[in-house]
Amino acid sequence: MTSDDFSSARLSPRHDLEPSASATVSAGRGVGPTPVDLLRRLRARTAGDPVTHVERVPARAGVPAPWPPWAPPELREAFARRGVAAPWRHQAEAATLAYDGGHVVVATGTASGKSMAYQLPALATLLADPRATVLYLAPTKALAADQLRAVAGLELEGVRPACYDGDTPRAEREWIRRHSRFVLTNPDMLHHGILPGHAQWSGFLRRLAYVVIDECHTYRGVFGSHVAHVLRRLRRQCARFGATPVFVLASATSGDPATAAGRLTGLPVTAVTEDASPRGGVTFALWEPPLLPPDSGSSPPVPPQATGDHDDLHQVRRSALRETADLLADTVAEGVRTLAFVRSRKGAEVVAANARRALDDAVPGLGDRVAAYRGGYLREERRELERALLHGDLLGLASTNALELGVDLIGLDAVLICGYPGTRASLWQQAGRAGRSGQEALAVLVARDDPLDTYLVHHPEAIFGAPVEATVLDPANPYVLAPQLACAAVEAPLTPADLSLFGDGAKEAIDELVAAGALRQRPTGWYWRHRERPEVDLRGEGGAPVCVVESATGRLLGTVDGGSSHFLLHPGAVYLHQGVSYVVDDLDLADGCALVHVEEPDWSTHARDVTDLSVVSVRSYVDAGPVGMFLGEVDVTSQVVSYQRRRIATGEVIDTRPLDLPTRELRTVAVWFTLSPQSLASAGVQPADVPGALHAAEHAAIGLLPLMATCDRWDIGGLSTAVHPDTEAPTVFVYDGHPGGAGFAERAYGTASAWLRATRDAIAECGCEAGCPSCVQSPKCGNGNNPLSKPDAVRVLDVVLANLPA
Ligand SMILES: [Zn+2]
Ligand SMILES: [Zn+2]
Repeated sequence: MTSDDFSSARLSPRHDLEPSASATVSAGRGVGPTPVDLLRRLRARTAGDPVTHVERVPARAGVPAPWPPWAPPELREAFARRGVAAPWRHQAEAATLAYDGGHVVVATGTASGKSMAYQLPALATLLADPRATVLYLAPTKALAADQLRAVAGLELEGVRPACYDGDTPRAEREWIRRHSRFVLTNPDMLHHGILPGHAQWSGFLRRLAYVVIDECHTYRGVFGSHVAHVLRRLRRQCARFGATPVFVLASATSGDPATAAGRLTGLPVTAVTEDASPRGGVTFALWEPPLLPPDSGSSPPVPPQATGDHDDLHQVRRSALRETADLLADTVAEGVRTLAFVRSRKGAEVVAANARRALDDAVPGLGDRVAAYRGGYLREERRELERALLHGDLLGLASTNALELGVDLIGLDAVLICGYPGTRASLWQQAGRAGRSGQEALAVLVARDDPLDTYLVHHPEAIFGAPVEATVLDPANPYVLAPQLACAAVEAPLTPADLSLFGDGAKEAIDELVAAGALRQRPTGWYWRHRERPEVDLRGEGGAPVCVVESATGRLLGTVDGGSSHFLLHPGAVYLHQGVSYVVDDLDLADGCALVHVEEPDWSTHARDVTDLSVVSVRSYVDAGPVGMFLGEVDVTSQVVSYQRRRIATGEVIDTRPLDLPTRELRTVAVWFTLSPQSLASAGVQPADVPGALHAAEHAAIGLLPLMATCDRWDIGGLSTAVHPDTEAPTVFVYDGHPGGAGFAERAYGTASAWLRATRDAIAECGCEAGCPSCVQSPKCGNGNNPLSKPDAVRVLDVVLANLPA
């Protein structure tokens, strides 16, 4: 089946596109239905009601605050020249906390002006003290360049802001070290360049007043744990030179930003979270595509060859892509400027193509008003796109998040989000695209068939209430701590005083480095013994990285960490890199290299693995009668054994192909729970159904963990068994997919009852009968989603929740 098959037949009965629709189209700004009317019409066209919730996010007037009395007139005037009359309250509050010497994280919405919160105290200090310096860290060079423009644009005397990164010409570097008082860089440069070269930087570090960490929520997982230690190394060097800089962090809204920022910096951090910036009103609808009848002969038909291949797929939901295409066609027909966010580029093209077809069926020629946005457009082409949207020549655009980078779209009336983008921060960033100055806008989140999406459309409070998802990192990960201590020892011998700086596990890690011959203990401390510096990559996540090379040209496209390479780069895998699709020809593990060629097939690939797990040690546990909840170290042995090919447009499984890859060992952190067989029996779970019950609970629990921690379900693995040799009980394990752990399992343990409650509700509230991808089926199951028992999974989780303390 091609993606052509699902358009007109199904769309025509639903799409009562009045020919007059095209008249509204050209009417331009300010005309057209209100978001509430528009939503009413979209709902009316769909059989049943797919809308599970409508949230009216009211317009908010900004709350300005007076300039802090310590902000010098020169600085106020500089901001005034840029059109800033006064700060918003959260900016003034965070700025004053930092100016008074407190470490602070400002965690407010997109476009709430977080940068002023650090610019104010940092620049005021630079103006007051002609010797002081500021170090600014961004996760990407592009963001640092943006901030450089902003700071330079204030035209303040003697600040001399400058970017210092891999692109900075050698000739300029010395000038920057000597003369710039506001250096913008990234953690990688701090790690590879500035800290090892601290002698050359001593003048700058000695006078360091502020360290600014922008977009600090991106420092999560193993990468975040590395950055946490790079910052400790920075603090250590500053202390050697007598400086104790104040840390100011900016974060997207998240659960508990103070704790995350405290873990990242190792310092007590105060959070400012109340956003006082103005915003337009949004009508936000949560949309769940309907379940298709089990043997749907009608609209749209699932092809027979596909149903046969679906493992136990009794029921499927109408795909989020189809639903989004229909909604895009509907809104465009109403003359509403609409942007649809779709995860993959291919998906965006499918959405645009189907919306175009539906529109042309209704009003020939109307389809021309819809386009797909491909990443990598030239600057002029992007400007043309913006122009076409602004003038209404183009009304509908389907795009990946690539659009976030570089296209400045204004005047959109509606945003469709195809599938939860993974974090609340991204969701609001995408929804925030809707709404021209002061006008009401519509946003629609279309759920994919995934347990987390299902949960969210039935639990709007998880989206619109206080956020629970936290940025998680684990600086105590020994696989991060030991190499970071080695780097620190090269920069200056480690002393007992450093142990508390580097935190839990530092002494053990040092002992291991001594035993391995990397450090030598002397009366004055621990010394690095080798001539070369240790090679430590902040973004590498265990195992040597695998290089991705284009066969035809020999060009290196990028690297994939060793841990994920079997999943992502097996022969036949479709590999996406910066929006371009490649197919893997060969994975050479000995050489650490995968050969690929450009190809964009209309299927995606999904690797499956088989797993074995043994418990190494228990770190913490809760004894709750028939239920036990544990956190500890485990050894996981896994092997990627096959992969599925699936049609992008429909999710239809084409085939499953075997793979011949070696097994891998992983020492990591897991959370697990056990139940007594008696408690399961009294809950009505028959012994024969225990494996399916646990397996289903495990899948859904993995799917819901991103609700509690900013991780991807691909960062996490699981295993369930009716009797595990180490626990001697029915057990469900969920583990971090990174050597040494990344903090996800720990967060799951810490929020176990909330996490498993959400898991239970997601399963129970899914409308399917026997389990579907929206609840208990997993796209990465090594057992082909067999056995699975949906009702028994709810019983299992009820037993756990009834016994576990909240
Ligand atoms: Zn279901
Ligand atoms: Zn499974």
